[in-house]
Amino acid sequence: MLSSCGNGKKKDGNGTDTTKTETVKVPDFNSDSAYAYVDKQVSFGPRVPGSKAHLACRDWLVSELKRHGAETTVQNISVRTYNNTVLSGYNIIGSINPAAKSRIMLSSHWDSRPFADWDPDPANHTKPIPGANDGASGVGVLLEIARVLQKNAPAIGVDIFFWDVEDYGEPKDAQGQEKEDTWGLGSQYWSKNPHKPGYTARYGILLDMVGAPYASFYQEGFSLRFAPEVVSKVWSHAGANGYSNYFFNSESNPIMDDHYYVNKYANIPTIDIIHQDRNSQTGFYPYWHTLKDDMTQIDRYTLKVVGQTLLRTIFYEK
Ligand SMILES: [Zn+2]
Repeated sequence: MLSSCGNGKKKDGNGTDTTKTETVKVPDFNSDSAYAYVDKQVSFGPRVPGSKAHLACRDWLVSELKRHGAETTVQNISVRTYNNTVLSGYNIIGSINPAAKSRIMLSSHWDSRPFADWDPDPANHTKPIPGANDGASGVGVLLEIARVLQKNAPAIGVDIFFWDVEDYGEPKDAQGQEKEDTWGLGSQYWSKNPHKPGYTARYGILLDMVGAPYASFYQEGFSLRFAPEVVSKVWSHAGANGYSNYFFNSESNPIMDDHYYVNKYANIPTIDIIHQDRNSQTGFYPYWHTLKDDMTQIDRYTLKVVGQTLLRTIFYEK
């Protein structure tokens, strides 16, 4: 088992209590395995809702969650996009240790953006992005977490959510007034219609763009507003692992992302670990919503930093 029991108080030769700080054994996050999960998703092609690649990737994600022993549910959804297209989507949920009362939710979107509207070449603005960092990286980290938890049972329940239709938001070149709530369509649907009536969790952690080299994770504005104690907890676990050069103790702009809707409609305090860049034009990592969001942007060490922080967070919970 993983939690090293500190029940019997140990004293050293000088009679000093050596068990003041609880030590918990946290299993290892394998970054090669996470990288392979990211690569596999990208190999399907852009996972744009309505495409063959999207359906093929959906089936693979379901089979991977099942293979790792998670109780797996697919929530079929129908959503209307900014341009009045009605799309079929699939939120995928894998429950680990489903009988546990105390639960946390981990999530990431799995769809790819249909428009590279921030690509430097305007001819690419209507092409879909590979979505290696934006989409596949968070899902890859969570699949690796599922793999690790099958071998090392956690004390709490963990629910892994893969949101669909996050990235179909109104393109920057769209005409007319900007519409609200065109992003996060899958999480909006679930937050108003949970897959299990009355579903709740103690808190949630969303991952978005967690694979680029030297990623910078600031304390995002909505996370601080809705779930400040979860931000402190996760950032202190990151610091304890020596990752303070990735997880910065300073606030950043609020981002309309899936966690916003989970907070607003499902009332589960949820944070977003998202790559924000104070020096880039968009505020995100430099290849955000461009055709260059491919496997060359994925760094194993960044996946490790995020995944190991999540595992520490999980195993310190009771
Ligand atoms: Zn995106």
